[in-house]
Amino acid sequence: MTTAPRARKKSAPAPPPQQDEPIIHGDTQTLLRWLIHYWEKLALPTAELSFLAMTQDRREFARWTGKRLNPLVLGCYCYLSTQRADAQRPTSGSPHTMAPVHWHLIFIEPDMQPQSIEVTIAHELIHLADRVNGTPRRHRHHGFDAIAVEEAAITGYSLEELRALLHEEGQRREKARRAARPLRYLYECPHCKKQYPRARRYSQPVSCSSCDKDYNPRFHLRLASLL
Ligand SMILES: [Zn+2]
Ligand SMILES: [Zn+2]
Repeated sequence: MTTAPRARKKSAPAPPPQQDEPIIHGDTQTLLRWLIHYWEKLALPTAELSFLAMTQDRREFARWTGKRLNPLVLGCYCYLSTQRADAQRPTSGSPHTMAPVHWHLIFIEPDMQPQSIEVTIAHELIHLADRVNGTPRRHRHHGFDAIAVEEAAITGYSLEELRALLHEEGQRREKARRAARPLRYLYECPHCKKQYPRARRYSQPVSCSSCDKDYNPRFHLRLASLL
């Protein structure tokens, strides 16, 4: 589904205070091991490590970025320019003039197999490398695009293996979420009839993402039945 753009809720980003070392919250040992491994493999500049904060806590990541994370997402890289964040607050007498100009914020889902933790870190660091190199890319198709090819090249896993991991972890995540929030509402696209089962009612207008990637009122989802 695609949400109508203006209704999206946003709060001001609140990145962690800057330190000399990267901020790693979660399974520190594992995260740090793969972080260092792929940081070197991607030949990333050491100086950028001071602007890196990584967490396995969704709520903390949402606080840092000021944006709610899609509950099914397994990993996320967010580049935050704090100049922009500061501009939203009153500047008079602000003690934060020494704040860094940018942050590399990374989320890694904790409930995954070890290989998936590894490749997700590699994946998010590819996004970070793109940003550092000034060539940020968007996904064309997760597991099938140029980013996936690069991920296979640096991790040594084949594209098929990466897709299988992505699929398994996606299903596991879906299942865990499902157990916590049973499906109650069935929405349907009036055009292609694609069905969208939901735990809650949509709180804002949504349209079918198969019919149009962008929000399009022509494909506005309708509540078809209660489950
Ligand atoms: Zn990605
Ligand atoms: Zn549709």
